[in-house]
Amino acid sequence: LTSKLPQVGTTIFTQMSSLAAQYGAINLSQGFPDFSADQALLERASQAILHGNNQYAPMTGLPVLRQAIQDLIARHYNRQVNADTEITVTSGASEAIFDGITALVNAGDDVILFDPAYDLYEPAVSLAGGVCKRVVLKAPDFRPDWSEFASLITDKTRLVIINTPHNPTGTCWQDDDLEQLWQAIKDRDVYVLSDEVYEFIHYQTQNVSVHRHHQLAERSMVVSSFGKSFHLTGWKVGYVVAPEAINRELRKLHQYITFSTVTPLQQAIGEHLLSTPTASAELSPFYQAKRDVLREALASSRFRLLPCQGTYFQLLDYSEISDLDDVAFCQYLVKEVGVAAIPVSVFYQNPPTEQRLIRLCFAKDETTLLSAAQKLARL
Ligand code: PMP
Ligand code: GLN
Repeated sequence: LTSKLPQVGTTIFTQMSSLAAQYGAINLSQGFPDFSADQALLERASQAILHGNNQYAPMTGLPVLRQAIQDLIARHYNRQVNADTEITVTSGASEAIFDGITALVNAGDDVILFDPAYDLYEPAVSLAGGVCKRVVLKAPDFRPDWSEFASLITDKTRLVIINTPHNPTGTCWQDDDLEQLWQAIKDRDVYVLSDEVYEFIHYQTQNVSVHRHHQLAERSMVVSSFGKSFHLTGWKVGYVVAPEAINRELRKLHQYITFSTVTPLQQAIGEHLLSTPTASAELSPFYQAKRDVLREALASSRFRLLPCQGTYFQLLDYSEISDLDDVAFCQYLVKEVGVAAIPVSVFYQNPPTEQRLIRLCFAKDETTLLSAAQKLARL
């Protein structure tokens, strides 16, 4: 069988979580919380399953959830979107990203990404016949170089994929970045996919979102996920917000890839969002406290902590501890030290050879974070 994705193996998240289980290591690799979601939301979901509607949801998403998303966007970003024509509920942000790329990218089109990039973008672009061009973000601040970006744009450029707060680096863009992006693409037939799954997990006054840039928003698909916002990565309920003309095309993919997303979970999230409108605003201080527990516990270790402005990921530079490359170092950590981490090089097309960085997920109980930090601090 000839593989359509010969360069793709099993994701690093699956690999590292399996190794963590095999070696009994503390798993700070794959990004998921080890604590429970709000009990009231879990109860709503069980009620929705026991007494609710367990048949297909409308293709575009349950009205109660699309209404709640519309309110969420109005409240946080002061942007008014139409719940019927501009919001589509998907099976996780992953499906929204796959639908969006497949709907917009034609064979031979260029797609610009920022390196390091989340692992699902490039395979989706390749399957659509597109070609990824990458702007490298350099440590320690990982800021985009906008003149390099502008030099990559040609008549073949169709889509730009951005992600802020950024996985894996934990950096956040500034308002000026969105304006620079807009200036570079405004006179061309170029669209934007903005992966904002960590939109409510940031440690600065305001999250920079495409929702706040009205002109850019008219060209963009903004993707988010309740997996991140409600500590429910296994529920796989996400959504995309895009102007009607883009959404119409994206829905053509969505209706044939999944058709619709799990009905009782949409019901539970929709009702919960409408009844607890402050929940998303509490997420950043909640995760900031966890970030600070981990940072403090590692402050006097030989790891160097990079800045973390958003997401629930912390980067560590281990160059004082080992010369191993990051994949080998993570193997050593999981097998010998008892902590599973993610090597950052896997998010690059051409990883910088001198870079020695690992990613730790701090969406964990304080006891988990302190036990892991204790093991790491011995190195
Ligand atoms: N984008 C980024 C940057 C992510 O970190 C994740 C979460 N793993 C996703 C997309 C996918 O989100 P979901 O689990 O909702 O499909
Ligand atoms: N987004 C998660 C992370 O970055 C992983 C999700 C997955 O395993 N597909 O760790």
